[in-house]
Amino acid sequence: MFTSGGPLGHDFSEKNVSNPAFYAPADCTTPARYYKCCSRCAVISTDTADLFEDGDALGHDFTVETVSDATLYTPVDCTHAAQYHKSCARCDAISTDEADLFASGEMLGHSYNDNGFCVRCDGYEAAMLNADGAYEISNAGQLYWFAALVNGTLADVDQNMGANGILTADIVVNETVLDADRNLISDPSNLRKWTPISGVEGDNYANYTGTFDGQNHTISGLYFNDSKTSVGLFGKVDKATICNLGVIDSFFQAKVEVAAVCGYSYYSAIKNCYSTATINGTEEYAGGICGRQYYSTISNCANRGRVGGVKNAAGICGFGYGGIVNCYNMGTVTGQAICAASSYITITNCYALEDSASTYYQASKLSAEAFAIGEAAYRLGGDWGQNLSSAVSAQYPSVGGPKVYQCNFYLSCDASDTPTQVYRNVNEDIVPAHSYVNGVCKNCGYFRNNVGTHLAGHSLTLNGSIGVNFYMMLDPRIVADDSAYMQFTLPDGTTKVMSVRGAAQDEVDGEQYYVFTCQVSAKEMASKIKAQIITDTVKSTVYSFTVEDYANEILDNSDAYNNYTVGLVRTLMQYGTYADAYFAGETLGATKEMSQVTADTLAMEVYVADGELPEGISYYGSTLLLESDVVLRHYFKVAKGTDVSAYGFTGNKGNYYYVDLAAGFGVTVADCVIGDYTLKYQPTCYVRAVLESEAAPENLKQLVTAFYLYYRMSQMS
Ligand SMILES: [Zn+2]
Ligand SMILES: [Zn+2]
Ligand SMILES: [Zn+2]
Ligand SMILES: [Zn+2]
Repeated sequence: MFTSGGPLGHDFSEKNVSNPAFYAPADCTTPARYYKCCSRCAVISTDTADLFEDGDALGHDFTVETVSDATLYTPVDCTHAAQYHKSCARCDAISTDEADLFASGEMLGHSYNDNGFCVRCDGYEAAMLNADGAYEISNAGQLYWFAALVNGTLADVDQNMGANGILTADIVVNETVLDADRNLISDPSNLRKWTPISGVEGDNYANYTGTFDGQNHTISGLYFNDSKTSVGLFGKVDKATICNLGVIDSFFQAKVEVAAVCGYSYYSAIKNCYSTATINGTEEYAGGICGRQYYSTISNCANRGRVGGVKNAAGICGFGYGGIVNCYNMGTVTGQAICAASSYITITNCYALEDSASTYYQASKLSAEAFAIGEAAYRLGGDWGQNLSSAVSAQYPSVGGPKVYQCNFYLSCDASDTPTQVYRNVNEDIVPAHSYVNGVCKNCGYFRNNVGTHLAGHSLTLNGSIGVNFYMMLDPRIVADDSAYMQFTLPDGTTKVMSVRGAAQDEVDGEQYYVFTCQVSAKEMASKIKAQIITDTVKSTVYSFTVEDYANEILDNSDAYNNYTVGLVRTLMQYGTYADAYFAGETLGATKEMSQVTADTLAMEVYVADGELPEGISYYGSTLLLESDVVLRHYFKVAKGTDVSAYGFTGNKGNYYYVDLAAGFGVTVADCVIGDYTLKYQPTCYVRAVLESEAAPENLKQLVTAFYLYYRMSQMS
């Protein structure tokens, strides 16, 4: 035996699974491993280079939930808890399969800033639905939320195109969108963009059908700049109502139907809204309030912003069917002041600042001054107002502002000049104050008391009866007033009126007085009489006086009067005293002067009758009525069946017909004529008859005596 060459060495190529060949069991990623053995000699290798695998690896068992940075998949956020990968129960492996995720911990929930946006995710604070079925919006986030609600873009809330909204505060989306010239700021990249309520064309495009009431709040800082259709605070509305809001410091640029409040209004109403936004329509239909409307109305709206457009641009509504009522434009418009001219639109009571637009279809032009002084607010009327107080001095009308009245401005204190028109927050003409001197305006003669003055002192009138002449200097307004009258109230409560128009005038010491005469009976001479000037709107002071007061004044100053006057007044007073006693049923003593008057001293005072009384009529007797008017009454007895219609009787008591004749002081008594019969009878005849009568009571005799003495005195004039 000999060997030739080296040994063959082992050929470790045989894969025999056996316990002696076992190297390592199967694990997650590697099957069980064995050493190969030699194909010639069955020796088992011990070299790990000669290993082979048998069977399958176990695969990972991703069942362990370990929270660690290594296992973190997505961190916690507002609406999700943190998510982690599960780990292998056998090894350190961490799954990369999204099927093996687990969540741990709580989601954060949103954290809203004051403006309603989440500080972490920019999510919108939900607006709260109130008891009236409207979403209350108090910040920008809630406005965006409301838009998303209508547009159907809220993750967890169904779309509601008819949601009602109200503003409960002024809303500021962006702090500054426009510069002082109403241009978009030079760098708008940080501005929050707006998506109109109703979305935009081709992207969640809805019709808004609800009611949105701004409650007179503003929305500020909206920014939209994209080549879209139907753009504004609202995009497209259908049978909706938008009211009581202002869109300010905002910029909307779009292709078609672009405006501050609403891009396209269909069978809807926009009321009490205004805009100071800048609008630009790059193709057609741009408006301050509405881009285009169809059978809709815009009322009480104002544009003070800038509107530009290629075609159909206007201050209120670019183009439309329907009505525009009580609106105005003060903004700079490259187009119509109110709305494009067409037979489809009715523009009523709308105004535009002159030079604000290119054309003014159915709009009345007013100057900046007319807007500033309140004329525009007055003409707009309705709910429009403007604070014209010098402290505020608003330069344009606002809905809900203090009401504006058109008033007259006079240069003369009695408003006698032709006034100019002024506008005020009070409905009161402007008239210069009067310059009163002793209660009378030295410029116009008006009295401070609106009536006039009563001349101290009176005069008596004796033309027919006792009268008191009441002198008044009257305010020109009273004189011109047809309703003005003097009312006398007598002691028995009865009133007598005299129209101012009918009053006599008398000049005293160079002044013109109106004279009102009040007749009084002798028995009332000591009683108070009241005098008052009354018109539909004015009642003067009540002046009160007595005849006696006036008489006593004369008697107390008898040196200043002639004997006749003094005697007249003295006998008048005496007459009054005895009249008062008689009518009160009392009897006074006679004065010496009175006792000298008897039937004998009056023997000449007899009546004279001439001619024949007609058949059936006989003279019965006469009496003297000593009331406020002194009247002689002659009675005639008339036989039954006698026709007296031709004789002019004043009246009758049964068969006794009478004739009344005025018999006052200073009056010549007329004859009493009945047919061919003439009765001449003076009041003194009656006096004599009473004094002669045995049946006449003493106080009547005294009364007629006092009357006689006064009457005699009055006849001496
Ligand atoms: Zn071998
Ligand atoms: Zn494993
Ligand atoms: Zn959030
Ligand atoms: Zn005056």
